[in-house]
Order: sequence, then structure tokens, then C-alpha cells
Amino acid sequence: MKEMEMNHPKRSETGVLIAGAGPVGLTLACELRRRGVACRVIDKLEAPLTTSRALGIQSRVLELFDNMGIVERVLEKGRRVFDTNIYEGEKLLFCYHFKVLSASEVPYPFIIELPQDMTERFLYEKLLELGGTVERMKELTDFRREPDAVIATVHDTSTGTEVAEEIRARWLVGCDGAHSLVRKRLGFTFEGNLFPEQFVLADVDMDWKWKPNKQYYWLHRDTLFMAQPLPYSGQWRIMADIDPADGGAAPEPSVELFQRLLAERTGDKRTVISNPTWLSTFRIHWRTTDNYRSGRVFLAGDAAHICSPFGAQGMNCGIQDAFNLGWKLALVVNGKAPVALLDSYTAERLPAARDISELTQSITNLLILKNPEEQDERDHVLVPLLNQRRYQYMLVRRIADLTVHYRTSPLSRTYRARLEEEILPSMIAGRHTLYAGDRAPDGHCQHSETGEKTRLHREFRGPHFNILLFAGDSSAPHINKLVRIGRRLHALVGDEVKTHIVVNDRCTRHDLDWNGSLLCDPGNKLAEKYGAPADSLYLIRPDGHIAFISHPVEWVKLLTYLDSIFRITE
Ligand SMILES: Cc1cc2nc3c(=O)[nH]c(=O)nc-3n(C[C@H](O)[C@H](O)[C@H](O)COP(=O)(O)OP(=O)(O)OC[C@H]3O[C@@H](n4cnc5c(N)ncnc54)[C@H](O)[C@@H]3O)c2cc1C
Repeated sequence: MKEMEMNHPKRSETGVLIAGAGPVGLTLACELRRRGVACRVIDKLEAPLTTSRALGIQSRVLELFDNMGIVERVLEKGRRVFDTNIYEGEKLLFCYHFKVLSASEVPYPFIIELPQDMTERFLYEKLLELGGTVERMKELTDFRREPDAVIATVHDTSTGTEVAEEIRARWLVGCDGAHSLVRKRLGFTFEGNLFPEQFVLADVDMDWKWKPNKQYYWLHRDTLFMAQPLPYSGQWRIMADIDPADGGAAPEPSVELFQRLLAERTGDKRTVISNPTWLSTFRIHWRTTDNYRSGRVFLAGDAAHICSPFGAQGMNCGIQDAFNLGWKLALVVNGKAPVALLDSYTAERLPAARDISELTQSITNLLILKNPEEQDERDHVLVPLLNQRRYQYMLVRRIADLTVHYRTSPLSRTYRARLEEEILPSMIAGRHTLYAGDRAPDGHCQHSETGEKTRLHREFRGPHFNILLFAGDSSAPHINKLVRIGRRLHALVGDEVKTHIVVNDRCTRHDLDWNGSLLCDPGNKLAEKYGAPADSLYLIRPDGHIAFISHPVEWVKLLTYLDSIFRITE
């Protein structure tokens, strides 16, 4: 019977098949569904994991969750952590504060601690709201490629008997985690290494003096003890590196082991550890694949990159992969963009993953330094530098993923007439002025008609592109030139692009012939952030990165750019 079922598999079809319903697969499914793309999500597990795993959600990903409409749930259930304190014994060696990010720069100047199972639950609920679901107990076991489709072989045990299913998908995305079958079948490398140390982890009750809106590290000789507050349960996540006994396996994690490590490494002999809800051991790998795409098959998340949990980046990076791929794949599937648009996925996300891998390796290295001379350099050279506000700001922006950029992407174009030519990415790499590829800055502004206060990112919400036309304090006739551009744009690309005309506080809607979004920028604060002179244009992608800049607004340049994405002609 079983043989017969395997010989005659059940056959079905879908637009996009997503293998893996972790945070990355779920985000991608939401991003596709929100754009009307039919997709199926399969997962080999019977039910989602219930362990806490990734706790830290960075500011940049909170912005993406805001765009998706789930940030309120995440903020309500998560714990806001504002500081990380690093001690050497009793002495506070270093503290970095998320509050160095100003509220006008980012609405979330903190890291949210939320157990991964809860993040996955919110993403899953969003997927259900969007009409999607997860098909559980369905394991992708192989796939083969045809010119216009991928034929996925799926082992289905959801009905209690083993059934083979062949799913014919136009596109396949492997969100199937670190041991990704999709990556292995594509023959992509997964190069990197692992730290020699072993780590133990526990989620436990600890009735102690430390504040639940901070996270703590204790450096003790060449070892580490770390504590992170868990939300709503009141528990703490504690972690430590541990010497394997005589070169063998690490000791099993237990309350007794952590009680001893707490006393040895922090000097705290009084706090009682109890009620472990998760005990685990792990090694730290850093590995990145060499490509994210081969034809109709993609990788995203841990399938493409893994890194140290110190710095809280792995899941955050994967969710940004999904956001990056979601809008591009949707445009292609919906026949609105050429397939070549998808080439930018690897070009943008592979460097981002490498950068994050370097960051988390550096953080981990600094925390578990063994060499006394290097420890000395860390404590007396690096730490005083990082305690300076300027360097701390740079560090925190990087950890919060606010510096992720695609300046060298084929999709990023900056045009400034005064340079009389398009600026090549190679000319601008590493400079601090705002360029195409950067995250579009957020900031306060007002609805011009009502005076109601808002934020730019709030106005960007939705699956579409946004375009900012900065008018400065130009006169009404001049602003009307921008209005005409807004209208022509709408006629060309419809709802794919939402136009916002940004005027200073001296202008009202009555002066203009415009029903679209009209934002007031009192004191030209937004214009300053963007470095936007009057008569300038910023096209913002659905993932919140700047696609195209034009100073001044040049319709033909804009048209040429849009044509490269949407294949339009006037
Ligand atoms: C202790 C710890 C702490 C961490 N802390 C953080 C943190 O603070 N911040 C952060 O950003 N990251 C953190 N991470 C990393 C984070 O957990 C991962 O990056 C994240 O889980 C990756 O999500 P994913 O969806 O890519 O993969 P996964 O979460 O691994 O999901 C993959 C899914 O695919 C399914 N699957 C696998 N193979 C198949 C198949 N063949 N067919 C069908 N389904 C399949 C699996 O069942 C699974 O559900 C931490 C990790 C650990 C272990």
C-alpha cells in the first residue's frame, strides 16, 4: 500500500511554496499574502516549538512589524530593555544605552525581549488574518526543477498515514533553518566556523536585585555569565560558557550548575535559582551561504546564515531577508516586474548577513577573551572609547540594525544634478550622507489639513512604495509642479506608489490642487534629516529602504528608474 502511494503521489500546485514555518517563513508568507500572492507554508513539525530561543527584537524589525500591523501585540507582550550592563566582578565596566537613539529618530529606542514562540504566534495569527495557514507534518524531502516550475516532494504524515505529495510550485523558498535541505540540494556552501567554547542556558526564576529592564553580563577572568529578563513570566534567561570536563562533553545544565556559576562568576552567593522551564547546551557557529538564489529557488533566514546569539541578530536578520524578498517576489508573481528584479535579493542580503556575522563574532570574542593582554586592551582602550556618546551611538545603531543599507545594490540610484551625473555606488560606499539604499529616516510631521501629529513611517504603512516630494517653502505654483508629478505617477503605477508632498508649515491644502497625502514639516526637520533641498524626490521601497533620490525632481530620471522596476512606459 505504502509503495503504491509513493508511486502515485498526491499532486497539487501553488504559486510559492515556503518550506519552514519558523519566524522567517511566517514573515515571508504574510508579506506575500498581503500582496495577494497565493502561497503555501509547510513544516515538518507537528506543532510549533514552545521554547524561548530568540529573545531580542531590534528597533529596525519593530519598524517592519509596525508596517505589517503586529507591532502593538509585540510591544504589549514584550519587555522593553533599555540598557546592557557589563560587569567585571562588582565593577561596572561598560554600559550601552538604547536611549542614545532619540525618539524622533526611531519610535522604538529599546530592544524588545519576547520569547521566539510568542513572536511566531503573532506572525502566525497575522497569517491567519490574511487567509493563510501552515500545513504541519509535511516535510520537504526533495525537489527537482523544470523550466517554469519546481516540483517539490513532500512527505505528509498529517493524516496518521504516510502520504507522498508532489507540489508543483512556480517558486520555492527554503526557510528550513540551519540544516536546510533546500540549501544542501542546491549545493550551496555554508562556510564559517565555530567557537571552541560550549555554552549552557536556562530559563529560571531568580528573586534578585537586578532590574528587569536591563540585561547583564559578568566577565570573570576568561569566562562569562549572562542574564536577560523574560517578559510576563518574570523569569530570567541565564547563559554561561563552560569548560568541558577533561576535553569531553560539557556538563549537563542544571540548577545546581548555574547556582555554582552564579556564585563563582558574579560573586552572588545569596540568590536562589529555581523552576527551570528550559535547560539547554549549545555551541556557537557562524556560517553564511555563498548565494541566496538559484533560478526559481531561494533561501532565507537560518537556511542562509547562522551567527552567535550574542548581539541578538539571527532571527532579526532572517526577518529582514523575508521582508526584502516578499515585495520583490510578489511584484514578479503578479506580473508587474521583470524576473531580473530578483537578482537584487542576493546582492542586498548576502552582504547584510556577512556584516551581521562579523558584528556578532566581534561581540562574542570580546565577551570571552582568553588572552590577558587582549583583555587589558579591551578594558583600557576599547571600553573607554565605547563609553563616549559618539561611539556608543554608532554601536547601538548598528546593533539595532538601523545601519543596514543597500547602497551598492543594482536597485539603488542617487541622482544629484549638481554633480551632473548619476552617482556610482562605488563613489559613495562608506559615506555618511543619505544615499539610495539607506533606511529611510523616520521623523515627526503633521497632516496639513488637520494639523494632526504623525510620523513619516506611520504614513508609509502598507505594502506599497512611497514617494516623498519635498517642496520646502516654495510657492504654490512651484508646489503645483510637484502635484502634477504626483498625478502622473498615479496614472502610471496606480496604488503601487503612494505620493506624499512635504511642505513647510506655511503652506495649506487650500493653495493646492491636490487630494493626496500632504504632510507639513514644521521647521523643516524632516527635510534636514533627508538632506532634502526644496524640489527633491525620495522613492522609498516597501521594505523601508530608499530606492531612488533625485535632486531636483526630474520626471524623466524618475520614469527611467520606475521602468527598471515596473516595466512601464508612458
Ligand atoms: C539560545 C538562542 C538564542 C537566540 N537569540 C536570538 C536573539 O535574541 N535574536 C535573534 O535575532 N536571534 C536569536 N537566535 C537565533 C534565532 O533563533 C534563529 O535565527 C531563528 O530561529 C531563525 O528562524 P528561521 O525561520 O530561519 O529558522 P527556524 O526557526 O529554524 O525554523 C525553521 C523551520 O523549518 C522547519 N523545517 C526544517 N526542515 C524542513 C523540511 N525539510 N520541510 C519542512 N519544514 C522544515 C522546522 O521544523 C522549523 O519550524 C537565538 C537562537 C538561540 C538558539
